[in-house]
Amino acid sequence: MTKKWLFLLTALGAGANTCSVAYAQETTFVRMSAESVVTFGQLAEMDGVTFCIGKQVFTRVDPTLDSIMIRDVEVHEAKHREQFARFPSCDAFNAYYRTPVGKLQSEAEAYAAGWCESRKLGYPDLEDLERHYLQNIYRLLGGWTPIYTILQTFKHYVDGCT
Ligand SMILES: [Zn+2]
Repeated sequence: MTKKWLFLLTALGAGANTCSVAYAQETTFVRMSAESVVTFGQLAEMDGVTFCIGKQVFTRVDPTLDSIMIRDVEVHEAKHREQFARFPSCDAFNAYYRTPVGKLQSEAEAYAAGWCESRKLGYPDLEDLERHYLQNIYRLLGGWTPIYTILQTFKHYVDGCT
């Protein structure tokens, strides 16, 4: 088992999914919310993930990333936890996140927070990182949101960086 997987199973094993974790395979489904499921294989490919089930929030960051990216992704996921806390329940946040505007704002805010952290730490190619993050948001939104709208939303949150 790769290091990546071990960390993933450890993060998930702490939660409600313990019984299925022992038998988890690439294609084992993990319930992220009432409406969304992903496979372990998909989870393992993510740089980071945070999800909220019931009243519990889980975060996992890929430990094989370089140190600046680990901090970037940690800050991104911490922003999602902060966003969850603005809502009365996981279900309420998840419902907001399922709307196009909710997903755009949540991800733009989180990617901007991570990008600002990378800037602070001296990431060598910030323009490339920004392009990568705008593309990630574009893909997460299903590919129909104008890239200019995504850029404006991202910049709005970058302007708020400290
Ligand atoms: Zn995110």
